[in-house]
Amino acid sequence: MDSQKKFWRSLWQLRVPNKIKHFMWKACNDALPTKENLHRRHVMDSTTCDLCREHLEDTIHALWLCKDISCVWSSLEWFHQAILVQPANFRELLARFRPCQDEYKVEIFVIAAWCVWNRRNALHFNRVVSLVTSICREAVFRASNVAGVGVIFRDNRGDPIGAMSMPVPFGQSMVEMEALACQRAVQFALEIGLTRVVVIEAFLNGSGQLASFENILGDIRFQAACFQHVEFNYISCACNSVADALAKKASSALVLQEWLEDLPDDIAPLVFREVH
Ligand SMILES: [Zn+2]
Repeated sequence: MDSQKKFWRSLWQLRVPNKIKHFMWKACNDALPTKENLHRRHVMDSTTCDLCREHLEDTIHALWLCKDISCVWSSLEWFHQAILVQPANFRELLARFRPCQDEYKVEIFVIAAWCVWNRRNALHFNRVVSLVTSICREAVFRASNVAGVGVIFRDNRGDPIGAMSMPVPFGQSMVEMEALACQRAVQFALEIGLTRVVVIEAFLNGSGQLASFENILGDIRFQAACFQHVEFNYISCACNSVADALAKKASSALVLQEWLEDLPDDIAPLVFREVH
């Protein structure tokens, strides 16, 4: 009884919105409307998961085991460690994360599980969904309430000239975060005296939401006019691993860090790998 009480108390004490706590309570009690549960209540004939179309969709499958969402749980090492022995149900899985009170691990896990469930529902009703690969990143930002901006400038051979890692408060959208990264990149280039730059960024693709941060874009245009030559190109985060790693470093270190020519030991190998 004591361990039961402790389990539920720790669930209600999580630093996440109440709607996510209620979602976790339902998931732990197998009360989510999964296909298996709807079938049991004679609401649905099929029990097969709509995403992988291979397995029965119960709670642990929908939120953890389905191969359609495997990239969410393989993206952080400590998620991966939890899967070494398959949990029997969702409650057992959550209990594995419970003892880690540091670094918002439980919160990141429950927010990611909640995003996975929302995505599953959105797909079920043919609504637009965000990329499954961005779920983990968004959960980390939401849990810590901090996002990171990572900037790296290289010369024409690919060698680093300067790099920066800066925490920023978690904003309204990922697109806005990317706009802030671009603004900071342009400022940083001016500060270190670059005159001819190509800014490679991820946010330029999100033109639909530009109105909400027009002031940031105005500032970028104003500062960019100081360069002899400036070009903006789009690239996906997955192809910009150094900037991505610098951004992640910012959201864990929580302080602004800058480097000129030399890079921190954990980032330098990534530069080498990206160039060669
Ligand atoms: Zn599945």
